[in-house]
Parts: sequence; structure tokens; C-alpha cells
Amino acid sequence: MAKSSNIQAVRGMNDILPQQTPTWQHVEAVARATLQDYGYQEIRMPILEKTELFKRSIGEVTDIVEKEMYTFEDRNGDSLTLRPEGTAGCVRACMEQGLLYNQVQRLWYAGPMFRHERPQKGRYRQFHQIGVEAFGMEGPDVDAEQIFMTARLWRALGLAEVRLEVNSLGSQEARAAYKAILVEYLEAHHDQLDEDSRRRLHSNPLRILDSKNPDMQALIEAAPQLADHLDTESRDHFQTLCGYLDAAGLEYRINPRLVRGLDYYSRSVFEWVTDRLGAQGTVCAGGRYDGLVGWLGGRPTPAVGFALGMERLIALLETLEAVPPPPTPHVYLVVAGEAALTQGPVLAERLRDAVPGLRLQMNCGGGSFKSQFKKADKCQAAYALILGEEEAARGEYGLKPLRETGEQRVLPEPELVNYLTEIVNQ
Ligand code: ATP
Ligand code: MG
Repeated sequence: MAKSSNIQAVRGMNDILPQQTPTWQHVEAVARATLQDYGYQEIRMPILEKTELFKRSIGEVTDIVEKEMYTFEDRNGDSLTLRPEGTAGCVRACMEQGLLYNQVQRLWYAGPMFRHERPQKGRYRQFHQIGVEAFGMEGPDVDAEQIFMTARLWRALGLAEVRLEVNSLGSQEARAAYKAILVEYLEAHHDQLDEDSRRRLHSNPLRILDSKNPDMQALIEAAPQLADHLDTESRDHFQTLCGYLDAAGLEYRINPRLVRGLDYYSRSVFEWVTDRLGAQGTVCAGGRYDGLVGWLGGRPTPAVGFALGMERLIALLETLEAVPPPPTPHVYLVVAGEAALTQGPVLAERLRDAVPGLRLQMNCGGGSFKSQFKKADKCQAAYALILGEEEAARGEYGLKPLRETGEQRVLPEPELVNYLTEIVNQ
């Protein structure tokens, strides 16, 4: 009879396994510390929001809203969506909780995002971002702060293989005027447009500049450039930002084709890109979105933020082998014999109480000396701590180094505690 097949994970949604989590934790810890040093505070929002929030903030004619959202009706008939990104929910939370009233905010969040894209290397249906948003500051000083902060994060992670690209999208008005010029140009070359671009021509023409289709590149190269149509204020804003980057000696490239996929951006946009990950090379992307809060019904509030893609960042770290190995146990407690078995768990607790910072892994479920030593070796413990029948009776313990040569010592408990304290503090 055919065996019923096992249930598998949803396509494009990954398990992050124990051998991978140390890298994740490392990146998260370094990011958390860096963000904290710059005065950014963590905010946690729900993973589900009303569908309307994303439609209104991201924009109806974007890829995300048109075809990538996980949207469903809940039992009350409300349309809900698994968040495809964090900015919309963050802005919603800030408005709802009064965090934007007469104050500035520097915030960050981390967690899963959901987009129904074609899964491939560096592109998944559940992926993870660390997102950063600052509210109430017009920049460009805070724009520079965020770019410097990301650069510091790469340094702290030992990443050298990312390069910075920046651009300005101008004000909403300047962008609208430029859009008209761009559409006119593209319409004049309608026969050279691919299917995607024809579809976007009137819905989201700026996105055409972002096309990866090689046949479209010549047309895009020759297109009128947004940089030549910026409003004066945006131009000054951008020049000042570039001035900060220059003065700090941070290398960057002005990429006039950097337009970002989401509707709500204005003025500064930036991306950190690598060549080491193939087509999915953007590890971090962001920019200014001064219009969004007002758009969602709040008092107009300037804002700038970015999100980094954890999977891509981690893939990059893995290619560079820049991840420190996770800590291994100081001791593995080998428990042999009936009497020892009853004492084992209690001894382990006593030692954990007496030796702060002790990483002790206890053998559970009995087994021969040999099999327990195998496990001790496998978990890479520095020492085996042996609680045997006779030792248990005498209140003594054996301690045998596993990573270097050396004799087994026999120690009464107070000396054992001293010795373990030394090991932990080495
Ligand atoms: P792309 O052009 O690669 O589709 P995007 O413009 O849609 O990116 P953003 O919405 O700006 O991406 O998200 C910020 C970052 O999140 C990206 O730079 C990337 O590192 C990561 N990211 C976005 N979508 C995915 C995905 N489907 N899988 C993995 N990471 C993603
Ligand atoms: Mg995308």
C-alpha cells in the first residue's frame, strides 16, 4: 500500500536549522548593539495587518500589492494580509499610539515578512528583515546617520564586499513631472518595450528603469534622467547628503536608475549591493518617505528608513566565512550507575548555581561510559565531568580534559567548583 506522503513546508518558506541559528544570532546581536548605540529603540508590531494599510501605503500598482501579498479573509470577513514589509505597520503603530506627536522617533524592528514571489536563491516567500525608521527629522543629517550606521554594521560584521549606491527621487511633485517626461519618451519607443514595461507604462513607469531585461538596457540608458528634473530643495538636500558621505570618506556611487520598488519613497534612496550573491544582490535598501504619514491620515511627518534582508546578509557572511563559531560546553556530565543517576540532575543544578557562566550539558537517558563519552566528544565539550557509582558515594567527581591531553583528576565538590570557576573565567 502506498504510504501517505509526509507534509512538507510551504514552498519558499525555510526552516532555520540549529547549525544556522548561531549565525543569525550573531548578526542579530551585532545589529541590536549597533542600533542601540545610535539611539534607536525596538518596536514590535503584529505580523498581520488590515489589507487596506498595505494597499494605501505601498501603492496599488506595485508588484507587492498587485501580486505578492498573502491576503485572506478572517472569520469575521475582514481582509487581512501577512506583512510584506515593516514600514507600513510601523507607521500605523506610531500614529495609533501617538508616538509621532511633537517628538522624533528612532525605531527598529526585526522579523519575518511574506511575499508570494518566485522562490530562488536569495528570494523567498517568508524572509526576514531588520528594519529601521526615523520620524520627525527632515534630514539630510539623519539620512547620513542611517547610512553611516549601516556601514558601521558591515564593519562590525566583517563585511567588506558591499558597495553603496545612492540617488534622489526628488519631491512628489518633481517626480510626477518627471514621470510625464519619462512616459512621453517611452511611448515614443513603444515598440522596444517588453511586456512588463508596457504594463507598467501608465501604472508605475519609474519601475521600468529598474528592469533587469538586457534587451531594454539601451533604451533605459538613453532615457531622460530624474537627476535633471529634481526640484531645487531636493537637489540641495541630496548634495548635502553626498557632502556628508564624502567628508566621512565613505565610498558610494550615484546611481540615477535607483528608483526603489515602493511608491512611498521621496528624496534620498540608497542600497547596499554585493556581487557575491548573483541576481539577488541587494542586501539592504531604504530611503526617505516624507509623504507616507500624511498619506495615511497623520499629520505630515518626515521619515527615513531602511530594511536589510537577513537571508542575503547571512548568505554573504557564509561565503566570506566571517562568522564566529558558537560557544561549546565547558563540561559534559557523564552519569554512570543507579546511585549517580539519581544525583546527576541535582548535582548539575548545584554546579550551575555555584559557577556563574558555566556551560554544562548533562547526559540524559543513561547509557554506557563509552556512549556517553561519544556524546561528550560530539558536543565538543572541553571536559567530561564524571559522576560514577563510587565517586557518588564519596562525594567526589572525575574531571577529564577532552580537547587536550591530560590526566583525569578526582576532586571533591568544593575544589571542583573552584576549578570550574577558573575554567569559566579563563
Ligand atoms: P528586490 O529588488 O530584490 O526584489 P525589494 O526592492 O523588493 O528587493 P525591499 O522591499 O526594499 O526589497 O526589501 C529590503 C530588503 O529585503 C531587500 O534589499 C532584500 O535584501 C530583502 N528582500 C526583499 N524581498 C525578499 C525576498 N523575497 N526574499 C529574501 N529577501 C528579500
Ligand atoms: Mg521585490
